[in-house]
Amino acid sequence: MTARVLVVDDILANVKLLEARLSAEYFEVLSAFSGQEALDVCERERVDVVLLDVMMPGMDGFEACKRIKENPKTHHIPVIMVTALDQPSDKIQGLESGADDFLTKPVDDIALITRVKNIARLKMLNDEMVLRASTSKRLGMTENDAFAKALSGHSGRVLVVDDHPRSAARLSEALSKVHETVVEQDPQQAMNRLLTEDYDLLVVSLSLNDFDGLRLCSQARSHERSRRLPIVILVEPGDDARLLRGLDLGVNDYVMRPIDRHEMMARVKSQIKRKRHADFLRHSLEESVEASVVDALTGLHNRRYMETHIQTLLSTAKESGRPLSVLLADIDHFKKVNDTYGHDVGDTVLQEFSKRFARNTRGVDLACRLGGEEFMIVMPDTDIALAYQVGERLRACIAADTFTISTEQSIRVTASVGLATLESKDDTAQTLFKKADQALYAAKRRGRNRVAADAA
Ligand code: GH3
Ligand code: MG
Ligand code: MG
Repeated sequence: MTARVLVVDDILANVKLLEARLSAEYFEVLSAFSGQEALDVCERERVDVVLLDVMMPGMDGFEACKRIKENPKTHHIPVIMVTALDQPSDKIQGLESGADDFLTKPVDDIALITRVKNIARLKMLNDEMVLRASTSKRLGMTENDAFAKALSGHSGRVLVVDDHPRSAARLSEALSKVHETVVEQDPQQAMNRLLTEDYDLLVVSLSLNDFDGLRLCSQARSHERSRRLPIVILVEPGDDARLLRGLDLGVNDYVMRPIDRHEMMARVKSQIKRKRHADFLRHSLEESVEASVVDALTGLHNRRYMETHIQTLLSTAKESGRPLSVLLADIDHFKKVNDTYGHDVGDTVLQEFSKRFARNTRGVDLACRLGGEEFMIVMPDTDIALAYQVGERLRACIAADTFTISTEQSIRVTASVGLATLESKDDTAQTLFKKADQALYAAKRRGRNRVAADAA
């Protein structure tokens, strides 16, 4: 999905400049020229990130930020403060007003894009987590400690890899106020720790003696245990080449030396939150509630969960005016598989089918087994054209490779796909299901192993 960024600055030229750079990276850009206008836009429109100038006549950026964070309608919108001077006092005041991160004017391109991407992603995960939590509540599951913990960016375990004693000590002192911090000077030892201990964040200096910190980052990314660990690198000014290489390797964010403590703290907090949100989404179903919402044979969500969660997704789509599509897939001639090879082989096919099905969905998509050999994906932010691509990709990935049913035998399996998209406010889960079902029927009638988006 593309994030919508609201750029707020009293000077038109500044707005235009940021707008051009963000649009070039495919962000959607809105603009406002005063604090008050920014508040109005945040209330009225969907905004994923606010880039807020500090110095503006009338209501300044600090005040505007405070009001965004105080208003229950807008408090979930992240704010990046754009400070004119590199003044620590601005950052302190920014943090006190609730700012989530900072950019310093003149705004550097890499900093701009990295910051906006990180903050937008954090918001997306947060939104999704809140949605899921509200679905759990509707299903009568109690909210648990895991959710509360996932919302906080405090008390993380941070591994700092820096062999410069003074820099390491200063960092550790700052971080230890809120987080548990381990400093490791030896990169090899650091890697051993990552493989045996649990952390929420890895901070790597790129100024290590005789060792390229990026190599450690790439090692961390390649091991299962540390694959998803957020990484922040500490970069010397002017070292853009290695900074860019780091970001390419999957480093999440960076802090430029000399390290500004407040900036460091803001970034660490965002990354820890992000990891916790993502962990929460991943594990939320592995808990005691699992049985009631997960299909035992395939591990996909079951119909019950789908019917509840689709209500949440539908109302969000209607409120925001964003698209939403539904994909219904049914295995072709599945009865014949059962009749020919037995019910157990049928089950094996359903399991392999589900794996391929799940591989073709994004984290925000809701994939489920409705029952029998019928499956569904509800896709937020997806119009019919994109849904068609997903359907076609899914169809192709089922048909392309045979299904292994025993050590010496594999069989060809195909599926038909029907699509429907949200067209009017009157559409309900039932009407969408029905339209998708009619399209599926059309796909079957046209010869199976195909995708249809209409009932004709
Ligand atoms: P079509 O191409 O028209 O969809 O034909 P089909 O044979 O796939 O459709 P039909 O609805 O006639 O048959 C579905 C079969 O799926 C019948 C049922 O025995 C089988 N089935 C349903 N649930 C399960 C299950 O959990 N495991 C197994 N092995 N089979 C199942
Ligand atoms: Mg069927
Ligand atoms: Mg079938």
